[in-house]
Amino acid sequence: MEYNYRYGRKITAQIKEGRAIHEELESETNVPIILQPRNYPDALYRDLYRSYMALLSLPENKRTREVSIYGSINGYTVVGKIDELQTNDGEITILEDKTKQSDTIPSESQSLTHKVQIMTYKKMVDDIKDGSYGLANFTAAYHTDEMALSEEFKRQLDAIKVQKELQGVSKIAKRFFDAFASVGKVSGRLHIRYINQFSGKEIKLYKFDYRKEEMDDIIKYILKYWNGERESMPVPENEQWKCNYCVFFGKECKVWYKQKALT
Ligand code: SF4
Repeated sequence: MEYNYRYGRKITAQIKEGRAIHEELESETNVPIILQPRNYPDALYRDLYRSYMALLSLPENKRTREVSIYGSINGYTVVGKIDELQTNDGEITILEDKTKQSDTIPSESQSLTHKVQIMTYKKMVDDIKDGSYGLANFTAAYHTDEMALSEEFKRQLDAIKVQKELQGVSKIAKRFFDAFASVGKVSGRLHIRYINQFSGKEIKLYKFDYRKEEMDDIIKYILKYWNGERESMPVPENEQWKCNYCVFFGKECKVWYKQKALT
């Protein structure tokens, strides 16, 4: 992650395959909303609007995808995109999709970062639902009251019949947070679905329970990095296999390079 910031994010073939599968799954559940932003406020509006519409469709369709989520962790602004929300037995389940190159069942260490990601989403959803994070936090963090949509984008909103009184980032944000806060009870059982990136076949549906104490410990550890109290760390020795899939291996990062070159 730090190298992505330092040297620029590199899009690998694997990431492209993963994105294609996500787009295919999204087209199965969500009505496509074609909007072409011209500036940052337009892009933020588009995310909020699409996510708002996705949330509105949940009660009827029982399943919706690509819902943006906004929050704060100890003062750090955090944003993510939930792959899927499902209604199961009257509760909302959060689901994350991960693609793999083979049909092997993911190991504990492979699943760990995925677990942390979906647990963070669960925490962010809980924060919106219990009011710890809401419209006021969002508008202050993003300065949305000072944002202006481009005239061209407003013309696109008119074309898809978005009311004039909703054509502002703070206005659509209010609708989004209201819709999220009133979505039903969110289950503590989190789902990660592993999919073969070539065949599209489901490999495994991994389910686990969210534990707030575990999340608090993870946050404490992560914040040490963001607060400058520790350096970022390479993968541990027994997880060197991950370096085989890393675009920085042997170039910007040589931590395990020599050792691997000898094996
Ligand atoms: S090469 Fe390995 S240790 Fe280095 S950044 Fe990539 S995954 Fe981490």
